[in-house]
Amino acid sequence: MSKHRQPAVFIGHGSPMYVLEPNRHTAAWASLGKRLHKPDAILLISAHWLTRGIWLTAMQQPKTIHDFGGFPEALFQIQYPAPGSPALAQRIQSLLTQAVVLEEHEWGIDHGAWSVLRYLYPNADVPVVQLSLDGSLSAKEHYILAKQLAPLRDENILILGSGNIVHNLRLIDWDAGAAPLPWATEFNQFFTSQILANQHPVLLDWQAAGDAARLSIPTPEHYWPALYPLALQGSGEEVEIITNGIEMGSISMLSFLIH
Ligand code: ZN
Repeated sequence: MSKHRQPAVFIGHGSPMYVLEPNRHTAAWASLGKRLHKPDAILLISAHWLTRGIWLTAMQQPKTIHDFGGFPEALFQIQYPAPGSPALAQRIQSLLTQAVVLEEHEWGIDHGAWSVLRYLYPNADVPVVQLSLDGSLSAKEHYILAKQLAPLRDENILILGSGNIVHNLRLIDWDAGAAPLPWATEFNQFFTSQILANQHPVLLDWQAAGDAARLSIPTPEHYWPALYPLALQGSGEEVEIITNGIEMGSISMLSFLIH
């Protein structure tokens, strides 16, 4: 284990089609991967692993999960053969003392993870452990839980949340040139300005932020992964925006780095 301190990262993953069709956001993820000191392992919190209780992948070789429907066959052929890390899973269990952490041998690397990791670490040579999102927790409880993961950053572990700050599939416009919906832009700008000002409490109480927030977060599983890197922001650390913008009318591509 090396002692390098890793940043904490949030990636707005958008459509899984971006794996087949790169754009300016995926280019920004790829250059981030080249820029960062290579981690010993990645702890990934994906919007697409929502569970009762808190689960952790602990297998040696997680499988690639194609947890979606209605996409071209080429997307179902994608593999991301990164190894797991039973040792990191055990280390996380030792940190999450207030949580019931179960070793999970059926899940693997879901598309919220691999759609991003394919750009960050295309060689799939960094071990990956996924931590599930307990659907029964509030935003504040996720934030408090995430703080317990802080020591990992000094053990050269990259903590990476993958979701979308604005994620409304009901109002999505699949046209690539779709204009952002006004409330999507409003909430995305609000969130961006609050993280740049280190104002986290207002983001944990997002239900109080009005209609734009409620339309942007119809269900919270894509929002919660952003709270993990925010919770890990140390004093004196800054937020750096990696990429930003609204795609398909109602999906925020905001991605940021805490360092
Ligand atoms: Zn998603």
